[in-house]
Amino acid sequence: MRKLAAGNWKMNGSLAALAEVNDLIAAHPAPACEMLLCPPATLISAMAAIVRGSALLVGAQDCHTHSAGAHTGDISALMLAEAGATHVIVGHSERRTDHGETDAQVAAKAQAAQAAGLVAIVCLGETEAQRDAGTTLAVIGAQLDASVPEASTAANLVIAYEPVWAIGTGRTPTVAQIAEVHGFLRQRLAGRIGAEAAGVRLLYGGSVKPSNAAEIFAIADVDGALVGGASLKAADFGPIVAALSAA
Ligand code: PEP
Repeated sequence: MRKLAAGNWKMNGSLAALAEVNDLIAAHPAPACEMLLCPPATLISAMAAIVRGSALLVGAQDCHTHSAGAHTGDISALMLAEAGATHVIVGHSERRTDHGETDAQVAAKAQAAQAAGLVAIVCLGETEAQRDAGTTLAVIGAQLDASVPEASTAANLVIAYEPVWAIGTGRTPTVAQIAEVHGFLRQRLAGRIGAEAAGVRLLYGGSVKPSNAAEIFAIADVDGALVGGASLKAADFGPIVAALSAA
């Protein structure tokens, strides 16, 4: 399985910030892992033009459940694909919180993405209150069952485990906590999509940075990372790509 270092720029970046992309490609022309950046939708076309012919892939941060229609302000997976995206994040905790997205909507978005030929990166994770209450695995299991389309394959699905309390906080779970969840996810996914589960990349996300990347990538069933803040600068994301390539 080829591991995946994915960056989520969230609502950050500008045409000027695309200089970081050139720096990243120059520093990592042929990494051993896949390398992906998901900028705001307005920058996808420009970033896709820059990365053409390089090892860097471009993705999006959300898509609509339909391919076209009367949905003001929304963008379909087909449109993202035409703009040059190969992947799309769905169900990020910020979308689930800010826009009230449900597991059913996330599943429909993932299905729309896959139908458009994109890889769906389905995000799930527990809140701090859920972890404190000892319900982490129950919460994550339910999210996985309801957010992952049944027809998913290793080629069109990536799962990102992102504890909500670890996103943008500088806090990360222990190695044992990450290992427990990723092992559980692999098993649960096999119950849902069968043998394909063995090849699905399971990413960890939440305050991944150059200083903790190698330790996280050494954990069983961690097949890469979804990186927020540290994906904005080539000087931070590059070392994470290097750590994953070496893992
Ligand atoms: C994210 O937004 O998916 C994320 C993991 O953010 P950060 O790396 O900044 O914690």
